[in-house]
Amino acid sequence: MHLTLSPSDLAFREEVRAFLKSSLHAEVIRRSLTGMHPPNEDDRRWWNRVLADKGWSAPHWPIEYGGTGWSHLHTHIFEYECKLAGAPELRWQGLRLLAPVLYTYGSAQQKERYLPAILRGDEMWAQGFSEPGAGSDLAALKTKAVLDGDHYVVNGQKLWTTEGQYCEQGFFLVRTENCDRPQKGISMMIIDMKSPGITVRQIPMINGDGSTCEVFLDNVRVPCDNILGEVGNAWSQAKFLLSNERTSSADIHKARADLERIRLIASKEYKHGKPLLDDPAFICRFTGLRLEVEALEWSVLRVLHEAPSRHPIAACASVLKVRGSSLQQKLTELMVSTMGQRSLRVYSRDEAYAASSDDPLWPAHVPGVTADLMYLRACTIFGGAMEVQKNIIAKLAFGF
Ligand SMILES: Cc1cc2nc3c(=O)[nH]c(=O)nc-3n(C[C@H](O)[C@H](O)[C@H](O)COP(=O)(O)OP(=O)(O)OC[C@H]3O[C@@H](n4cnc5c(N)ncnc54)[C@H](O)[C@@H]3O)c2cc1C
Repeated sequence: MHLTLSPSDLAFREEVRAFLKSSLHAEVIRRSLTGMHPPNEDDRRWWNRVLADKGWSAPHWPIEYGGTGWSHLHTHIFEYECKLAGAPELRWQGLRLLAPVLYTYGSAQQKERYLPAILRGDEMWAQGFSEPGAGSDLAALKTKAVLDGDHYVVNGQKLWTTEGQYCEQGFFLVRTENCDRPQKGISMMIIDMKSPGITVRQIPMINGDGSTCEVFLDNVRVPCDNILGEVGNAWSQAKFLLSNERTSSADIHKARADLERIRLIASKEYKHGKPLLDDPAFICRFTGLRLEVEALEWSVLRVLHEAPSRHPIAACASVLKVRGSSLQQKLTELMVSTMGQRSLRVYSRDEAYAASSDDPLWPAHVPGVTADLMYLRACTIFGGAMEVQKNIIAKLAFGF
């Protein structure tokens, strides 16, 4: 692997930069750089459509379904440039989690019905896996689907469903059969979130937003055609999906963009009359994190390049998740301490979006920094808790 960009990589980067410059509006960039969670819903739907028109909304999909055919490196360059430019983050549940399951395990009708709408962002997706009492121990899930003619009748409760309030569709794990092993008898099912019997309730979060939900399913009728893959055999699909989620959870593009943001803040903050950027204690902390981000970046690229069959891919995904999520937390901690007192003020979303660059406190990205720090307390939990990831690594990589 080469550690420098080739002339064609650099030309590709220029093409991406030119596209971002001509397509993104200043208002959208400003809202997205605040770092508020969840990002502005209208902005991210709009941006999904803009990227889809360009053919760039799902670079990692196979070309036949709308992917770009780019190398992993070009996809990586593209995603980093988007982040740096302040493009709204696309919702990944449909694009990154469900779509690979759909094009790997779905029927021809399911692919035709759902993939184009995911590609354009016309339908957003909720991930209905976790339940009260079934998070780390996902196989303990109790939401039940009982066959009734050509439909299933679904009853139960899902918990921590990210941005469920905005989603048109959901992919749910449900129990269709009670078997000797809890991993058996679980099915994956597509459920229209507007179906009668579904109630979505937002959970207030510490950062002031309601980015996760409880979803109650009360006699929800779901056509049998909405089962994804084999009935009762969804455990391997769920593991496949979670491995993709954990690899993405390294969120390396955000980490690199955060480093740039910290550098910018430190160049404007002063300590004893000098920019913080020149302070030895700051340099030491910043450089340590920079090295960690670089090491993780090359690990992500290496895992993406290597054939999954050569490695215990679930263990690799868990390593990236453990390293990436703890790094996210360290970066937001450094950002908040670099901002000093400015980080103490709590902004509402309206205030955050209204703040202009002549705000006496700071330009647009100040309001979301503390909100981001609070939100990211959860990143060592979502997508699989830290301790559980370490158990997976110990078992798959070291055989304990
Ligand atoms: C912000 C946020 C967004 C989320 N979004 C979604 C979503 O969209 N869809 C969805 O389905 N889920 C979502 N989740 C749920 C997430 O996947 C679960 O919270 C996670 O899997 C942990 O499960 P739990 O909350 O039930 O905690 P528990 O499983 O009860 O764990 C509690 C603690 O015990 C530890 N623990 C548990 N088992 C073991 C073990 N065997 N060995 C050692 N330690 C252990 C855990 O590490 C943790 O520290 C989200 C969670 C959060 C916080």
